Amino acid sequence: MKIICIGRNYVDHAKELGNQVPENPVIFMKPETALIPKKMPFFIPDFSKDVHHEIELVVRINRLGKHIHEEFAHKYYQEIGLGIDFTARDLQSELKSKGLPWEKAKAFDGSAFVSPFLNIQKKSLDPHKIQLSLRKNGELVQDGNTKDLLFPIDRLISYVSRYFTLKIGDLIFTGTPAGVGPVQANDLLEGYLEGNKQFSLRVK
Ligand code: MG
Repeated sequence: MKIICIGRNYVDHAKELGNQVPENPVIFMKPETALIPKKMPFFIPDFSKDVHHEIELVVRINRLGKHIHEEFAHKYYQEIGLGIDFTARDLQSELKSKGLPWEKAKAFDGSAFVSPFLNIQKKSLDPHKIQLSLRKNGELVQDGNTKDLLFPIDRLISYVSRYFTLKIGDLIFTGTPAGVGPVQANDLLEGYLEGNKQFSLRVK
């Protein structure tokens, strides 16, 4: 199982970090060991003093595929959830400035949280119009809608599958809206999808 993440996929977030809006999807990966086990908190790693939350819509792949056409991409997923792409921003900035890969800042143990998944047919959800938000200690810090994705889900699946075979259980983190910011020990992070709470996650 692999975790494929898309960067700079909302214009307002690309701008808040001073990045250009990309011409093609920005892709990076996290290994399976990045996933936070069920019911466990997020532990701030000792190598960063500035870990950021990034709330994202996550799609779970349910069919094997390569070179998937965009018009058929919807056949490759039935479930969506919320995720947090935890990012050691200080380390990422250092790596970016040196032109080095981001993995240490993005793919460390515990850097990927995912909520329980929802079946889009059963819940009558349109994955291309999903409101997602994150509250930190009760305060709204991120609020976005997948209608504002630069590269929508079906196009991402098509694009990603040109490079990487998609397998059942693979996860795609589709990018974060504006409002990313630091987490501290004892913070409570709560994710909402279409106004319904999907998770609570404690920071340690
Ligand atoms: Mg992200």
